[in-house]
Amino acid sequence: MSWKTLRKYPSVIEAQIAQTKLESEEIECFVRDEYLANIMALYTNALGGIRLDVQEADFERATQILQEVDASVEKIVCPQCGSDRVKKNDWSWRLAFLSLFALTVPLPFQKKRRKCDACGESF
Ligand SMILES: [Zn+2]
Repeated sequence: MSWKTLRKYPSVIEAQIAQTKLESEEIECFVRDEYLANIMALYTNALGGIRLDVQEADFERATQILQEVDASVEKIVCPQCGSDRVKKNDWSWRLAFLSLFALTVPLPFQKKRRKCDACGESF
């Protein structure tokens, strides 16, 4: 049996939500960094996120299930132009990693804004 990282999440909670969904579809999965994240919450940024792993054989199906979940939840349109080509700004774990060296504390540089691909509006 080999495990493969399906996705990375900025928090254990988000990883567990996905885990619950996959388990309801009878896909075996586990949150790889759960223990580490619980004892050292600040370091999850440095890890690049909380990994959710599935069996390699289930990878395609699990990806599909999570995409369906995304499609049903994430329907956000730009307030400026009405386009749905909106993406969440990337979670900036590199900055958090740099701050770990600079300040010895990884600051949570999590961007919450969204950006419209069509007109460039941030909101
Ligand atoms: Zn727009």
